Amino acid sequence: MDSPRAQIPRKKLEAWLQYFDDLNLGDFYKDRRSMAKRSILGGASSAVGTALSAVEVAQAQPATAVTPVGPILPVANVPSLFEVLDRVEGDTLERIREDLGECTRCRLHEQRNKIVFGAGNSRAELVFVGEGPGRDEDMQGLPFVGRAGKLLTQMIEAMGLQREDVYICNVVKCRPPENRKPEDDEVATCAPFLFRQLDVISPKAIVCLGATAAQALLETKDSISRFRGTWFDYRNTKLMVTYHPAYLLRNPAAKSDVWKDLQKVMVHLGLKGKKASK
Ligand code: URA
Repeated sequence: MDSPRAQIPRKKLEAWLQYFDDLNLGDFYKDRRSMAKRSILGGASSAVGTALSAVEVAQAQPATAVTPVGPILPVANVPSLFEVLDRVEGDTLERIREDLGECTRCRLHEQRNKIVFGAGNSRAELVFVGEGPGRDEDMQGLPFVGRAGKLLTQMIEAMGLQREDVYICNVVKCRPPENRKPEDDEVATCAPFLFRQLDVISPKAIVCLGATAAQALLETKDSISRFRGTWFDYRNTKLMVTYHPAYLLRNPAAKSDVWKDLQKVMVHLGLKGKKASK
């Protein structure tokens, strides 16, 4: 019977390796065999872990049972995927955007109009992470510019900030058809670019707008009610989860909960909030 490696078409393997290259992960895969299964810390590794599965299957064979083919060579003492992913040295938002390119890595590219990479202050102390672009965002290539976006702008201003002061981005960079939730594999493919954006900006606080963002960054499938309104740690940055503005448009009564969450963020950032107009 063919080994699992032989079952992976070479083209597919090459596509994965190109993808790792786009993510600036270097040659980490060369030493996968020596890596014991490790516990996942922080938000970045599981998504790429999913992406890795093809290579991992290929590498799961004992050394004697397989002959290395193509680029997969057992080389000792190179950093693990986790360590490499921890920080991409000299990374910038421009470089991440360049690496993303005119992305076709998942099916979301098929119907998208524009990639919505993110917008705002690259040195922001506060980053908002949403789920994925909607129709208006897809048309303009900018995050949160539709109805939910207008509400987000009001929230930001109520905190005493302007949109230009913060950075706004999404878990997936292309609009899911009919505004459906992004699928797990779409999140797994796109989220590493978000992780890099967060690493580069290195904000003092991250606010996850809704369950998709929270689940992607906290690596959980728990419902938002489990973690809304309390602080979490995301790679040494404080992370707050609150309701998505689109949810607030349907459930205005939840606005008071969101305001309580944002007030905690304001305390952490030393913000006084918008001055009441006389
Ligand atoms: N909803 C999101 O999650 N992101 C956007 O950019 C717009 C709407």
